[in-house]
Amino acid sequence: MTREDIIQECRDLLELLPSAALAKARDKHPDIGGFGVFPVYAPVEIIHAARLMPVGLFGAGEQIELSHAESRFQSFICSIAKSTLELFLGDEMKDFEGAVFSSICDVARNLSSLVQRNAPDLYIEYLHLPQNMYSAESGNYGRAEFERFRTNLSNHLGRPITDDAIRESLTLYNEIRGLTRRLYTHRMAHPTSIEAADLYAVVRAGTRMMPEDYLPMLRDLCEHVQASDVKPRDGVRVVVEGAFCEGPPIGLVDVIEASGCLVQDDDMAIGWRLFDDDVECNGDPLAALSQAYLGSSVYTSVRHDCDKPRTEGLLERMKNSGAEAVLFAPAKFCEPALLDYVLFRQKLEEADVPHLKIEFEEKMWTFEATRTEIETFAESMLFD
Ligand code: SF4
Repeated sequence: MTREDIIQECRDLLELLPSAALAKARDKHPDIGGFGVFPVYAPVEIIHAARLMPVGLFGAGEQIELSHAESRFQSFICSIAKSTLELFLGDEMKDFEGAVFSSICDVARNLSSLVQRNAPDLYIEYLHLPQNMYSAESGNYGRAEFERFRTNLSNHLGRPITDDAIRESLTLYNEIRGLTRRLYTHRMAHPTSIEAADLYAVVRAGTRMMPEDYLPMLRDLCEHVQASDVKPRDGVRVVVEGAFCEGPPIGLVDVIEASGCLVQDDDMAIGWRLFDDDVECNGDPLAALSQAYLGSSVYTSVRHDCDKPRTEGLLERMKNSGAEAVLFAPAKFCEPALLDYVLFRQKLEEADVPHLKIEFEEKMWTFEATRTEIETFAESMLFD
């Protein structure tokens, strides 16, 4: 496939609701079932090994009207929680086997219970991911939690989910994560080699396809991007931080670059590329996933710190990517991102790093005020 075709297909996929993405995948894989995955992280390998397509639940933005979900929530809540619940309150998820949520914040916890209560025919799981990253027992605990998920899912489906099948899925997802890392690493050195919005679309689209169909596209894209002529342009080199769960509208990502910034690195859709190394495929696959979660996860605001504080992680991300500033892009009312913003901001001010905060919500359709803010920020740095 050409680079243009790949990017267009990925952008088109993001226009589809989960059921339409599943229906599209079923053209090629008629027997496949669907399973929703709420951000940030879930062991998609277990789901895929159960012959289900893990489908990213990133809210529904402009594609769905909120008719009932707002009556179940207080008003000050992130958009992704409301539109995800709306998907389950209507018919949208009826062809799915279920969905998994995890312990990222109180909103996700409540959302999981609300979905369970309102979609009694689906298997809804809530994963208690390890919180204590230092205890000698954390690895066993994480493994036991993944085993609980495997057993419950297997019982729900009435078929086994074998270690061999999980190992095969691990191999597949390892390659996908590896190629995605390659694209991100290449972009750090050549930030104009792929637009930030295109890369974001590609990563998100990967959560709306069968991984075996996504992989060849990703391989092709890597080749195209690495072989492309890079035309440098001036801009403020930034890291985008805080968009790890609810992702910004793609139009906002376009605006960031159109307003004078070059995105060197970001944390958008980070759960699907959480590990900075391959997961071991030869031994006990659930133990390997648990060890990867504890030892190879990049920092995010919804995971407890491991070897260093998240604030150090942000400085390191800046240094590794060659960024000179940070754009904080938290979803409106996203508690983990907004609480961490205070810590990050303090650290950046100590280190004299310029930063700007831009909040967003799903149904944001005009970006002119944000464009002006980013342009002013970029110009103040470029012409200082
Ligand atoms: S956007 Fe933030 S507050 Fe909302 S579910 Fe995600 S992590 Fe929680």
